[in-house]
Amino acid sequence: MTPLLPLEDAQQRLISMARPLPSETLPIGDALGRYLAEDMIARRSQPAADMSAMDGYSICFEDRRGPWQIAGECKAGSPPCPPIKAGQAARIFTGALMPDGADTVVMQENISCDGDSIRLIGDPPPSKGHHVRHKGGDFEAGDITVQAGTYLNPPALAHGVMAGLGSLNTGQRPKVAILSTGDELVAPGTEALPHQIPASNDLMILSMLLQLPAITRSISRIKDNMDSLCEALESAADCDVIVTIGGASVGDHDLVAPAFERLGGQIDFWKIAMKPGKPLMAGRLGDSIVLALPGNPVSAFVTATLFLLPLVRHLAGARSPMPVMQVAKTRSLLPPTTQRAEWLRAKVDESGISVFDSQDSAKLSILSAANALLFRPPHSPEQPKGASVSYIAI
Ligand code: AMP
Ligand code: MG
Repeated sequence: MTPLLPLEDAQQRLISMARPLPSETLPIGDALGRYLAEDMIARRSQPAADMSAMDGYSICFEDRRGPWQIAGECKAGSPPCPPIKAGQAARIFTGALMPDGADTVVMQENISCDGDSIRLIGDPPPSKGHHVRHKGGDFEAGDITVQAGTYLNPPALAHGVMAGLGSLNTGQRPKVAILSTGDELVAPGTEALPHQIPASNDLMILSMLLQLPAITRSISRIKDNMDSLCEALESAADCDVIVTIGGASVGDHDLVAPAFERLGGQIDFWKIAMKPGKPLMAGRLGDSIVLALPGNPVSAFVTATLFLLPLVRHLAGARSPMPVMQVAKTRSLLPPTTQRAEWLRAKVDESGISVFDSQDSAKLSILSAANALLFRPPHSPEQPKGASVSYIAI
């Protein structure tokens, strides 16, 4: 019997099978959800010049006790008002440029007005530059504002716009085909006879991919025979990734690997030291990477989380494609593990993380009630309640 491949080795091998796709330039408004392909360099400084952070009066700090004569008015969107001299202040609004001669802003709440004369009604400003946003205080022209490989979320796009950019160089979206196999599968919403089941994995895996920059194609409910499987695999030959669901074990009707090999596919690895998800297979077929997920719904979800999504992120240009591991204190006693790493369906909240009593890899009722996969490394001793454990939020 071939030994099971350790989980991390398998994840590394899969990532190293693929290179990120070439980049493409997009209008910044179309770049949401992509990975940045090169460092984002600011074309301008922000702010471009000293400006007020408050509605109030701009003064010279040396002159901080007042009283002052109002010599002008500065508002956002206008060029700077004329310089102020000793004993003078300029009315100023948030986002307006500071006039020459002024270095500090007094909030309007601390000022009493009498025509053009104003005086303090409170403490003088505590420091030079109070309530002033200084030139380049956010970033300077030439700064790297966002690093290559970063996921472009709404704040990152806003950062790019403020940095003066109208387009971004981003990773391309990999093409991913999802092939589900099984004579027992029926379409969602149609009646399933007792020997049939609805094809629930198809929508689950598709939905997981829709959260990433991927172009998806679903080829559902392929029959368990060689010809149908070969035809489906061939029809997805233009895809960067072909993910199959089901038929990945070594049962008589598990024909994914035989079909894949008949077409000339090269297996890279098969069978991982993890639970659930042991029958996972990965290989190459033409220019595509084929990832064969087990059919049990929980196994399919766990292997997609740990293998398929990182692969797609990597192809799309992510710097850190692996799922983020978090730490919590376990509220359950955790038995020792064998040579297989385990991913337990769990619920995490402020009080800690608890595993569900049933860890049956066919039970969607448990998977859909879970919000975490608790990680148990291989060969772990029992963990008492209160021990720190790692998990992935789902
Ligand atoms: P397999 O990996 O093909 O042996 O399937 C293992 C189990 O997962 C069987 O009970 C299948 O009926 C079920 N299964 C396979 N594919 C799907 C699917 N697309 N949706 C829901 N369940 C599936
Ligand atoms: Mg099957």
